[in-house]
This record gives sequence, structure tokens and C-alpha cells, in this order.
Amino acid sequence: MSADLPAPKKGDPCFVCTESLQRSSCNSSSKDEPKAEPLLGLKLASHAPLERAQSAGRLKCPKCAGSRMFYCYTCFSLVGISQQEIPTVKLPIKIDIIKHPNETDGKSTAVHAKLIAPDDVTVYTYPCIPEYESERHEVVLVFPGSQSVTVEEMSKQLLEIPKKSSDDSTDAPCPKRLKREVKSLEEQCTKNQQGVCPLQRVVFIDSTWNQTNKIITDERLQALLQVELKTRKTCFWRHQRGSPDTYLATIEAIYYFLKDFHMQCLSEEYQGEYDNLLYFFVYLHKLINNAKKAAGKL
Ligand SMILES: [Zn+2]
Repeated sequence: MSADLPAPKKGDPCFVCTESLQRSSCNSSSKDEPKAEPLLGLKLASHAPLERAQSAGRLKCPKCAGSRMFYCYTCFSLVGISQQEIPTVKLPIKIDIIKHPNETDGKSTAVHAKLIAPDDVTVYTYPCIPEYESERHEVVLVFPGSQSVTVEEMSKQLLEIPKKSSDDSTDAPCPKRLKREVKSLEEQCTKNQQGVCPLQRVVFIDSTWNQTNKIITDERLQALLQVELKTRKTCFWRHQRGSPDTYLATIEAIYYFLKDFHMQCLSEEYQGEYDNLLYFFVYLHKLINNAKKAAGKL
């Protein structure tokens, strides 16, 4: 993560249990998101199966025998609920999530994405990650780096990255250099290419922000165009005290990316298509808030 982020303090109670946070950019404001209560008004499937599972209590995961409620964050499987009972979402693009091996699994929301969109989400544990070199004209990495572009700018930038053919022995220029050398390439773009987003896959990093730095500097990710999200405030209950509220949980980052992609790249009106990605997140959010209220902390 960039150097302008506050360093974790030893006394911070969240220091050892911080969850995977994606930082969204702070240089633009969101017009389509209400500032307060962004979780209200979502089109979500009924939470009745989760309420039933909750009243049944923790159960053994059928795969690893760990004691779990709702799902197993180690095996990425449901516990006490069947797949038919929960919503599934078909995504317009593939999602790769790269997890840091030290990430405390139970604190990560990456599992939510895998359970709700099982056909389109793949979770990798660093350092076992795919090679994206030959696909960098259609793959982006969500990360707020100094060279990051917005979702709106992403399609144009991807179209400017030449496809690497199998017999191409020379390395194509990296996207960062392309930024300054785009003019001639821009002219090469045919009209029918313009307005079509070539994006096929998005990579998210699921780790605490101090671990993200090790992953982001991996050379296999260096070639990818980096995309940052518009400013959105997190609703995550494990939000690090003292860190900006624009640090998002992984599932929030995935949801907001897809919403932006839908509206800005597919140019379609958003009608709640991906809201169910937050199915578990909203339920757990309610549970935590109710527990806090009961304890007199809210
Ligand atoms: Zn398990």
C-alpha cells in the first residue's frame, strides 16, 4: 500500500485481527452512493436460511470438521445451509482473489464472493498465483497505486495494450509506459473497438494492508493495469480503528467494482444485479450491530 497510509499502532485493538481491506481512492466523490447507510435499499434474497442456521448454532464442517456457522472459511463450503437456499449471482467477468497465507481466514470476506458466485470467483493463496502476462489486455488489478486509473478510464487503457501473440518474441511495453505513448496506438484503434470493454478478469488482493505490499510488488502482477475505486465508505465491522473509512472489505470492493463496471463499461442501468454478493455481509453486519446494541455499545 502507499506510504501515505497511517502505520498500525501496537495498541490498536484491531492490529492483529484486521481483515482484508481494499482501499478506495480519495480523490473523487461518489454521486450515486448515499453517504450514510449504503447497505440500505439493496435487493437481497431472504435471510431466513441464515436465521435458521443461526438458531441451530455452530456445526461441524463436513470437509474439515471445524466448528462453523453458515460457512467454512477454510473449505469455502456452506455449513448447515444448502446451496439451493442461498442466492447465486452470475458475474459479467471473472474474479480472482489473491489471499495472503497469513490472513486470518475467519476475518476475510473473500469467502462470501466464492459462495455467492461460485462459477466466476477463484481464490488463490499467495505465492501460488496465475501468470497474467499474456492476458494483460483484458485483466486489471484493483489497487490504489500512483498509476491507477478509474473504472471509467479502464476500457480505453485496456484497448491500448497490444495483445501478445504466441509468436511474439519481444515484450510489449508495460501499461505504465503506454500512458505516455498512447497517441499513436490510439490512432490504431479501429472505431468498432471503441466503446467495447475488453475486460475479462479482475484481480483483488485479500490481505491486511501491510501484507498487501508484498503481494503488489510481485513481478507477476507488475504488468497489470491498476484500477482504483471511487470513494466509498466501508460498513465493515472489523474496520481498523484510526484508518480511513474508505478502506473496504474485499466483498465490498468486489461489489462496488462490478456496479461501476455495469454502469460505466456495459453502459447499463444498475438494477441490483450484484446486490446479493453482499448477502452474508449484510446479515453479519446486522448481527454485529444488534449484539453491540444489546451490549450498550451503540
Ligand atoms: Zn471446512
